[in-house]
Amino acid sequence: MSATAERTNTITHFIGGKQKSSTGAREQDVYNPATGKVTGQLQLAGRADIDEAVAVAKTAAESWSQSSLTKRTKILFSLREKLVARTEEMAAVITAEHGKVLDDAKGEIGRALEAVEFACGIVEHLKGEYSSQVSTGIDVYSFREPLGVVAGITPFNFPVMVPMWMAPMAIATGNAFILKPSERDPSAALMLAELWQEAGLPDGVFNVLQGDKEAVDGLLKHEDVDGISFVGSTPIAKYIHETATAHGKRVQALGGAKNHAVVLPDADIDAAAEHLNAAAFGAAGERCMAISVAVAVGEAADELADKLRERANNVVVAEGTHADSDMGPLITPQARDRVKRIIGEAEADGATLVTDGRDLVVKGNEGGFFVGPTLIDHVKTDMSAYKEEIFGPVLVIVRVANLDEAIRVINENPYGNGTGIFTSSGAFARQFQRAVKVGMVGVNIPIPVPVAWHSFGGWNDSLFGDLHVNGPDSMHFYTRNKVVTQRWPEPARASGASFSFPTHD
Ligand code: NAD
Repeated sequence: MSATAERTNTITHFIGGKQKSSTGAREQDVYNPATGKVTGQLQLAGRADIDEAVAVAKTAAESWSQSSLTKRTKILFSLREKLVARTEEMAAVITAEHGKVLDDAKGEIGRALEAVEFACGIVEHLKGEYSSQVSTGIDVYSFREPLGVVAGITPFNFPVMVPMWMAPMAIATGNAFILKPSERDPSAALMLAELWQEAGLPDGVFNVLQGDKEAVDGLLKHEDVDGISFVGSTPIAKYIHETATAHGKRVQALGGAKNHAVVLPDADIDAAAEHLNAAAFGAAGERCMAISVAVAVGEAADELADKLRERANNVVVAEGTHADSDMGPLITPQARDRVKRIIGEAEADGATLVTDGRDLVVKGNEGGFFVGPTLIDHVKTDMSAYKEEIFGPVLVIVRVANLDEAIRVINENPYGNGTGIFTSSGAFARQFQRAVKVGMVGVNIPIPVPVAWHSFGGWNDSLFGDLHVNGPDSMHFYTRNKVVTQRWPEPARASGASFSFPTHD
């Protein structure tokens, strides 16, 4: 049976090349957030499922780690073609459980494709280093080997892109991979499993373990899991990093964000407002790189606030399948209520509610989890609307006197994922990019997600661990170095052993 055949009903694991029902009885509802209706029952892994997935992956890793780079490359090229061919179908699966608009879902698949394309160059990435004749008759060379079994624990907001920040390079470098997707939108993971299989990947190299904290904890503590890649909120990222390292695993844990965009008076304010509006409200603000704070400098503030208000009022909020929809619903009723609570707190704290999306009703979708675009001006850095990662369609405006103050505000924020500056001055842009303590910076670009052949990652509370995802960092994360020092004694030359530490001659 195909991996996705039953995805609108019971949503299972995918282990060893087959859909696999849970041995336990725990299940959780999956919703279409645009209608509020339950669309599936997700099986949640228990101990036996976790052990089975890890055992299957461990066995698969033994042979996969010995596969030729040519074979891996062929599979990755084939996967790329299959992703392209099934983009529409996969986007529909994403929209049905996440709620984002179809074009945005296709955009995330496009970003996943980039990561596959980077992994297609694995023959180049895995080239080792060689030093000939470091001593007479002795050569030293190094190459990289896979870790073994790697697990990817991913958030709801990019059910295809984030797993594909991990799996292509983990698998290209010779590891077996277990994906633990978000329990909110788990079906896209099964479609990915199906595509890997159709591309020719041996069974057991890519597995899907559905579940919640029990599945995560089982993976973090399992002695046969060697590496953990995590993307999600900051408190969970911290927990993942601490628990996985305590259990001897290599770990990278990307956390939450509060991304600021600085608008200087010399910027094209129309263009800045256009970009900030899309960057704040696209995907209903449920992006780790969404702009959630506009830092308006000096006289830019009034004009920017006006232009943002005009645009926020024109955002079309509708189910993600509607052709004219700019943004869809939030992921759960709890997320919707939390966003509304923070908007209320901002008002009570004395900020100015310029556009209030709390009472929005989407006709025909009254049961959906919608909040409309919300713009809040005169926000201070001690208000909850500034301090919390809202993860909803809310843009706050913080007014500052000059660029130095803008940089100070950004650097005092505990997060450091992405930031941007809008200006027509190269000098101000250069000062900004060198001074901010943030991992990814945009100059006249609101959402500076780098292309997949550059590594992606934040600083401070936005990332725990050393290495970022994608790009060169991913090759290093999923492999370890082996160095060989080699001599082949020639019959005519005695190779004298030494009791002293060897020196070169
Ligand atoms: P989340 O932290 O709630 O969940 C992420 C994953 O962790 C899920 O697979 C979930 O099942 C698991 N999890 C949740 N609670 C857990 C617990 N107590 N113990 C063990 N595992 C647990 O995040 P989310 O709500 O799915 O996603 C949104 C968050 O992800 C936002 O904070 C967003 O900024 C962040 N995010 C960050 C990036 C980045 O690149 N830094 C990218 C995307 C999303």
